[in-house]
Amino acid sequence: MKVLVIEDEKKINSLIRKGLEAHGFVVDSTQHGDEGYLLATTRSYDVLILDIMLPGRDGLSILRNLREKKVALPVILLTARSELNERLEGLNLGADDYLTKPFFIDELIARIHAVTRRAAGAIQSILSASDLTMNLLTREVRRGTTMIELTPREFALLEHLLRTPGRVLTRVQICEQVWDYNFDPGTNLVEVYVQRLRKKIDGSASVKLIETIRGVGYRLNAPA
Ligand code: CA
Repeated sequence: MKVLVIEDEKKINSLIRKGLEAHGFVVDSTQHGDEGYLLATTRSYDVLILDIMLPGRDGLSILRNLREKKVALPVILLTARSELNERLEGLNLGADDYLTKPFFIDELIARIHAVTRRAAGAIQSILSASDLTMNLLTREVRRGTTMIELTPREFALLEHLLRTPGRVLTRVQICEQVWDYNFDPGTNLVEVYVQRLRKKIDGSASVKLIETIRGVGYRLNAPA
């Protein structure tokens, strides 16, 4: 999941970025309203975390302009306790939710999941293939009844594979989607992660789900 954070307070900005990255999110962040607006309108994100008082374009005008341009990007406003009017105006302008500072990162993550779920309509929170299930809300992964512990990056990789069953993903695509690298890191990063994931997912199972397509990439085998 790709998140844009526009927040001018350096400390809060970096706490949010680090917190989200630790949970497997891919994060772009900026402390300036103009740069934020440019990013929001030129790149694609799953959710925008938007502060109200910002240098350059303020949060509410960013939101207003996005909605005028019919950008449907889900927006979570970060507001100070005193900013009641701004909060109400933000919701009227089409913000999806707000959080009052200070907040816990887990709370922000819960809100992100809620607004992106809502945005996608009845998007399912459980992905599965064969007897493998992945709950995107509780972040539980099971093969049959066995619970499998994954690191955030392994979780992101598996989610990506499960969202495109039967389709071959190249190493470059995986790098872009899971690591946000738009270059070939020139290492066997993807191979190493796929191997680790495969060991956890397919280790002792009779049906192997992660398939290597030699010289191309990987695919999730989706047996009927
Ligand atoms: Ca601010």
